Amino acid sequence: NGIPELIACSGFFNDRRFDQIIKATSFAETDQTLYIGTQQRGLFVLEKKAGAFGNIRNFKEKYGATGQLQSERVSYLLKDSKQRIWVATYDGLSVFNPDDETFTNINTYFSLSQDFDPKIVFCLHESSDKNIWIGTPTGLYHLDETTGKNAVLHYISKENGLSGNQIMGITEDNFQNLWISTNAGISKYHLKTKKIHNFTTIDGLRSTTFSETSFCKGLNNTLYFGGTFGLNSFNPDEIVESDYKNSIVLTNLNLYNQRVEIGKSNGSHAILEKSLNNTTEITLNNRQKNFQIEFSALDYKASGKNQYAYKLDNFDKDWNYIGTRHFVNFNNLQPGEYTLNIKSASNNYIWNEQPRKLKITIRPPMWQTWYAIVFYVMLIVGIVTIIRWNAVKQVRMAKNLEIEKIKHEQDQRVSEMKFQFFTNISHEFRTPLTLIFAPLKELIHKAQAYKLQDEAIEKIEVIYKNTSQLMKLINQLLDFRKAETENLKLVARYLNIEDFIREACYPFFELAKIKDIKFQIDSTLKNKDIWFDRDKMEMIINNLVSNAFKFNKTPGFVKITLEENVNEVIVSVADSGKGIPSSAIDHVFERFYQVDNSENIGSTGIGLALVKYLVELHKGNIEVESELGKGTEFRLKLKKGKDHLKPEQLFANEAESLTFAREESTLNRFLPLIKKRKIASEGCILIIEDNPDVNQYLVTLLEPFFSVVSALNGKEGFLKALELIPDLIISDIMMPEMDGFELCKKVKANSLTATIPVILLTAKSADQYKLMGIQTGADDYISKPFDPNYLVEKVQKLLISQTKLKKQYSKSIRLDPSDIEIEASDEVFLKKCISVIEKNLQNDDFSAETLATILHLSNSSLYRKLKSLSNLSSAEFIRSIRIKRAAQLLQDKSKTVSEVAYEVGFNDLKNFRQVFHKHFNCTPSEYRDKRII
Ligand code: ATP
Ligand code: MG
Repeated sequence: NGIPELIACSGFFNDRRFDQIIKATSFAETDQTLYIGTQQRGLFVLEKKAGAFGNIRNFKEKYGATGQLQSERVSYLLKDSKQRIWVATYDGLSVFNPDDETFTNINTYFSLSQDFDPKIVFCLHESSDKNIWIGTPTGLYHLDETTGKNAVLHYISKENGLSGNQIMGITEDNFQNLWISTNAGISKYHLKTKKIHNFTTIDGLRSTTFSETSFCKGLNNTLYFGGTFGLNSFNPDEIVESDYKNSIVLTNLNLYNQRVEIGKSNGSHAILEKSLNNTTEITLNNRQKNFQIEFSALDYKASGKNQYAYKLDNFDKDWNYIGTRHFVNFNNLQPGEYTLNIKSASNNYIWNEQPRKLKITIRPPMWQTWYAIVFYVMLIVGIVTIIRWNAVKQVRMAKNLEIEKIKHEQDQRVSEMKFQFFTNISHEFRTPLTLIFAPLKELIHKAQAYKLQDEAIEKIEVIYKNTSQLMKLINQLLDFRKAETENLKLVARYLNIEDFIREACYPFFELAKIKDIKFQIDSTLKNKDIWFDRDKMEMIINNLVSNAFKFNKTPGFVKITLEENVNEVIVSVADSGKGIPSSAIDHVFERFYQVDNSENIGSTGIGLALVKYLVELHKGNIEVESELGKGTEFRLKLKKGKDHLKPEQLFANEAESLTFAREESTLNRFLPLIKKRKIASEGCILIIEDNPDVNQYLVTLLEPFFSVVSALNGKEGFLKALELIPDLIISDIMMPEMDGFELCKKVKANSLTATIPVILLTAKSADQYKLMGIQTGADDYISKPFDPNYLVEKVQKLLISQTKLKKQYSKSIRLDPSDIEIEASDEVFLKKCISVIEKNLQNDDFSAETLATILHLSNSSLYRKLKSLSNLSSAEFIRSIRIKRAAQLLQDKSKTVSEVAYEVGFNDLKNFRQVFHKHFNCTPSEYRDKRII
């Protein structure tokens, strides 16, 4: 300091020891000691003596040893106010203790809470307020010992406003300002206010790059700093600080590195309508999240030195100091509203605390906007409402369904009850109807015997027709009911379907004649036997054929065709009627359905429903084809074999169903049974049956008991009957040449054979047809297949009653009272009757009443008695005696017919002839002639 002439110390002091001190970097001095730091040889400690130096000690680095100098490169020495010697090296900062000559690292010395990191220390300074300032290549450190027991280390850097981070020199002026030279200018730091003010070339510095430890404070308070372009010196007193505060101008908005021009559209509106600086608010959409805002401070004096800081409200907590950078980038800002605050400080470091503000709104994407959210809410509410509504609806529907179900069940129960009632009533109807029916049948049968007049007969016929119609209806209803409640059980037998159908259709031939309809049955069947239920099949055929007749026109035809294929027998019922409209064809099998119910009074529309049910019960199939105005054809398909039927639906089994026992074994099983029985009667029986098997079977069956003659058709049978006068005739109904009904009629009409009982064998079973048989005079009906025992029994019973009757008759017509052998009380009674009648034979007034009076009986008891004994009413009995007597008298050729008539009480010859003819089926004169023959 102040040495005008530079002389080397060794020369100056004439002491060679100084030669070793080379590249001295710094000095420190106490009263007794001078410290010299060197660049390569560590620290020299020189003992001061008057005018010379005593002992010189040199401290060098002792690699890592505690208490030793850390580096041989000593950059700075400082003696502080506490007389401590601070040794700054290129490997740390230590405090030297002259007493024991040790170096203590600053971190150990102060036990700092936060370690002092830097290795290299450039310079040291003790400020006027007794703080140590440490300059390093990485910033300024401030060691504050004043606050408390432990020293605190502060770090000040460019971030805090220093002009550079490499601290080259630190000195202080008289106004408590530190002057710090850095690699990028000089900074003024006020110890109290901590305000930093930077100076660069703009302020007049020659260069901003300064050299390490190259600084000095002159006597007149002038400061010197050495740098790459020479020495800078100034007097801090002369530097006037301006109070100017920067204001900010927003210069540019860049979107994805592209400048946004004024008026540039962003979809619906312009981002900038005016210049950015005049804009208080910008609105960007969610795809414009990356943008840059450029700004500038309005300080052109040293614009490069303006400092900036920004803070984004709603995003940043603190200000971001960005130095001299005059733009800010934002990336991926979330949608929302923000306010950008920018403030600046000019080189005087006075921050303008009134920041420039810019409101930035980033609009949320469409799906995040408030209306989108309202929409979502509404949507959710809507969906929830719909779901809820649906649930409610479903619950309601379920409830309704349940109610509906209950209602339906109730309805069904009610209708079931109605039907039940209806069935019961129908059933109840049947009993009185049967009771009406039976006497009615008798009335018709014996119309003449009762002397009914033609008018009465006509009326009775009307009653009969309607009663039978009523009976048919009721039976059909009951059957239908049964079918509906599934109570109809199938009892299938193995029978000849062709014979069966022919027989079942028999009554319709009569109807065909009346109605002028051609009725025809054709068959191409080879194998005629199939399994079916007789009663049910009869209902089926009846309904189909009766429909065909009912809905036919006259003249017309009804044709039944029987065909077969491998598995089925097909029965077709075709008519030439009015046909069924195609709209109705699907409904004809529905119950109570009628195409035009105004036409068919007395029909119920259940016929076809029943047919369908019954066909299905047979596992068959029925189809209908119809052409309006031309005709209708029902095709009924019945399966062959019995596999389709359940075992319980088969009548016993094939063999036991006794289809006229084709198998020897079956026959043999029954014959011994029958043979065991006592033969009760004898007689001659004529069997008329076209089927040779059945014929043979019947012969074999009856031979053990009776003498049997057989014939193979009606005509042959009738001739044999006339020839043999058998005691009983068994005849089939459907036969070639002459059928059973006709045969029966003829037999009964002939006086010779009239009394022979006739049994008709039928494949059918319904009462209506029995009636037909009875009407033709048949004595009994046996349905095929029959129980052989039953047949034998029946034949026997009929023969017995026949002989009995014959006996009674033969007796009753004997005129000589003495001839009568009185054995039974009945015969006494009969004899008495006959004698009374004979006595009054000539009295044409003699009536049943007179007879009753004479016998002391009431009219009705006489009637009952005679009915039981002779099967004749009182009037008939009297008439028969008269006629039989007449027959006897006629044998006496001397008497004329009129004489005979008179003798037996007939005044009117014509009447006598009529009655006689009715009785013997011939005129009195013919009778006489026959007898004579
Ligand atoms: P029901 O048979 O109970 O006495 P119905 O004959 O009227 O009465 P269905 O036999 O069930 O009843 O027949 C139903 C309807 O089908 C008949 O009313 C008739 O209109 C029509 N139909 C049946 N068969 C024929 C047919 N062969 N030709 C024309 N129409 C027919
Ligand atoms: Mg019908």
